[in-house]
Amino acid sequence: MSRRRQIYEGKAKILYEGPEPGTIIQYFKDDATAFNAQKKGTINGKGVINNRISEFVFTRLSHIGIPTHFIRRLNMREQLVRQVEIIPLEVVVRNVAAGSLSKRLGIEEGEPLPHTLIEYYYKDDALGDPLIAEEHIACFGWASNEEMQDMSSMAIRINDFMCGMFAAVGIRLVDFKLEFGRIWDGDYSRVILADEISPDGCRLWDMVTNEKLDKDRFRRDLGGEEDAYQEVARRLGVLQEDGPSEVADIAMHRKLRGKK
Ligand code: C5P
Repeated sequence: MSRRRQIYEGKAKILYEGPEPGTIIQYFKDDATAFNAQKKGTINGKGVINNRISEFVFTRLSHIGIPTHFIRRLNMREQLVRQVEIIPLEVVVRNVAAGSLSKRLGIEEGEPLPHTLIEYYYKDDALGDPLIAEEHIACFGWASNEEMQDMSSMAIRINDFMCGMFAAVGIRLVDFKLEFGRIWDGDYSRVILADEISPDGCRLWDMVTNEKLDKDRFRRDLGGEEDAYQEVARRLGVLQEDGPSEVADIAMHRKLRGKK
């Protein structure tokens, strides 16, 4: 097998050069980190499930007219995506108070918000991804006013769509994080949705029991993270045909690779 050039290794994914210019391969790892990588671990089979869930969500978002970097899934852990110039912002959309919002403002977790909140964080590990105002984004030129308009309107449409999509399978979409990137056409650029959408970057609560079905299980040492991720995939119908066996396969896959 010919070796591919690794472009970047992140906490949960590795990016390789794609087969054609302007393309990238996203490889989904089982590695999990929290609190700016102070806590590290693995969630067995997470990469396989997140690859599938993200494919499912991005495909549906493209059907409602959201431009995304997703091209196609290549195999259990990899997908082909368009190469973008990543905008150094994490766009967080919140429907219900939880996590850092509850901590920062003393609002009880689970309190529904009077209206959807969009927050921006500056993507910088060394600074711990600080919360920023739109003014900072304009002041330091991280994104133009037009790009901010595009990102915020996409974030609202994505939220509306995903709230419905998850509600249909008995899941409350509490909050989630989006990342966007620029693609260039000559002197002109446009913003498209990038990265991934999976239980790693969303808070997903069972609508009846409020059970957490996302990375908070890992962050808060609740246990059962593998089952939670599988449950989300199962409810969305993405692991139906080859569910548990596909995840079991990955153990075999690792074993075989380990022997080489
Ligand atoms: O921690 P906080 O409450 O700010 O997280 C809000 C949402 O953004 C959560 O769904 C969390 O999973 C996601 N997030 C993320 N990556 C980060 C920070 C937050 O996916 N670096």
